[in-house]
Amino acid sequence: MYPMTQCKILLIEDEPSIIHLVSAYLRQENYEVTTATDGMSGLKAARALRPDLVVLDIMLPKLDGLEVLTQLRRESNVYIILLTAKTEETDKIVGLSLGADDYVTKPFSPRELVARIKAALRRIQAGTQTPPETMLHFPRLRIDPGSHQVWLDDQLVDLTLTEFQLLHTLAEHPHMVLSREQLLEKVWGANYYGEERVVDVHVGNVRRKLGGEFIATVRGVGYRFEGEGV
Ligand code: CA
Repeated sequence: MYPMTQCKILLIEDEPSIIHLVSAYLRQENYEVTTATDGMSGLKAARALRPDLVVLDIMLPKLDGLEVLTQLRRESNVYIILLTAKTEETDKIVGLSLGADDYVTKPFSPRELVARIKAALRRIQAGTQTPPETMLHFPRLRIDPGSHQVWLDDQLVDLTLTEFQLLHTLAEHPHMVLSREQLLEKVWGANYYGEERVVDVHVGNVRRKLGGEFIATVRGVGYRFEGEGV
């Protein structure tokens, strides 16, 4: 496995000042940075480059960020961090439900974005480097932490890294209620300061992909995995 310093990051953003600042910060961390300044070329670059992580602005010329996200998700589970405007509250929820892993709200400090990228790359690498853990078996569901694959009734379910880690965390403790705060800490890491709503949207994605079953909402508390389905 490559060392973290050689990770490839694709930045899709049309604002020159942000491109300049963010790529300078990322190169300082020894990441390989490629930039694209509109949605169309961003999508092309993502296909050609196969980056480890994509930072994707929502407001983009030619093809907007949410459209890029939708198309990218059809072909790849690459880790995606959205850049959203503070005023567009719905954008981040729509973005997460379309499969983005995380978001950062503009205006942001480049240091904050770099910290989020580092945390994400650590999660990606932890997933590929740790020895395979035990496969979790349930009557209709199999969860393999080694390959990050999930089978529902013997059909492979296509989950992003974040969705997989969320499901795996819940399934490791069947019938136990985990709070949003606990899930944020276990999946996103102890230093994550994002909103708990992020958990709700990702749980919604996992649920939808599992046919609406397996994860129960415990009102006012959190979520509970039911191995036999809900
Ligand atoms: Ca923009």
